[in-house]
Amino acid sequence: MRISVTDRCNYKCVYCRTGNEGALFGELPFSDYFRIARLFVQRGIEKIRLTGGEPLLRKGLVDFVRQLSELRTLSGKPLDIAVTTNGHLLAELAEPLKQAGLSRVTVSMDAVDPVKFAAITRVKNGYENVVAGIRAAKRAGLEPVKVNCVLLRGFNEDQVGTFGKFARDEGVVLRFIEFMPLEEGRVWSPDVVVPLDEILERMAAFRPLREIGHGYSETARRYVFDDGVGEIGIIAPVSHPFCGHCSRVRLTSDGKIRTCLFSVFDHDLAGRMRAGDSDAELLDFIDLVIARKEARHHIGEADFVPASRTMVHIGG
Ligand code: SAM
Repeated sequence: MRISVTDRCNYKCVYCRTGNEGALFGELPFSDYFRIARLFVQRGIEKIRLTGGEPLLRKGLVDFVRQLSELRTLSGKPLDIAVTTNGHLLAELAEPLKQAGLSRVTVSMDAVDPVKFAAITRVKNGYENVVAGIRAAKRAGLEPVKVNCVLLRGFNEDQVGTFGKFARDEGVVLRFIEFMPLEEGRVWSPDVVVPLDEILERMAAFRPLREIGHGYSETARRYVFDDGVGEIGIIAPVSHPFCGHCSRVRLTSDGKIRTCLFSVFDHDLAGRMRAGDSDAELLDFIDLVIARKEARHHIGEADFVPASRTMVHIGG
């Protein structure tokens, strides 16, 4: 389960936001997210990822993680709690988050080069902050620290090998994500996507890779370098869709359930809470919604209908 705790963001990545729009949707109090999380855990959820917008902008996040860490899965284990962040504020928050019970962190980073990084994020001095955040997360033991990179043709496809070296030097797991049509401004086209096969070719030019397969309901195809050092994953929803394996469910910052990134409508759980539904009634609603999870996305097909929200307002 992915919970977006805000759709505000302090970065304006060119492939995600126009830079003109701010937050579009509200935020729930953490007590509401907690009630929802508790209900989903009763239905078998074992992993919760906090995202946004930029989740570290939300005051009270550390206390929310502490609360979540007290929940137990159906088999009595602590939850696996992760955060996806741009890393800008991570250097100071890594240790408190770890102390509160966070299991691991994924940091988004689209270039290993301060100038390119600033051109993509449209924020000055971000690169230094993000690298400091990654190192602080490693020191705090938020392992494995994963680094997400979205490749865009003409922007950063030359960074594949550089990321390979960065991952080996810093001891982080890399995840390349194919660019999906989920951006504000709608600039996506198939030509901009750097597909899995090309990423593999570019990485092999840096150093050969060996595939190590992927588990059921895991979105990334995973590889290690020939000497066994480092792990690279490629999430390829465009060139190699994995919808049949997808077990993800998302909650937007304003409390709507989304059963697919490409859903054309969402399900107003928060509205039902405001109307006074009991836990049992909310669980019935959740069951109904999940049973109708979309079979697959239609990216690149003639009948593709854009999602009803863009990525920053869903929670990636
Ligand atoms: N602000 C946090 C961050 O930067 O990680 C969390 C939210 S951000 C929307 C989550 C992830 O989605 C980031 O790794 C970002 O690069 C990725 N992303 C954004 N738009 C995307 C798109 N159209 N296709 C694929 N990934 C995208």
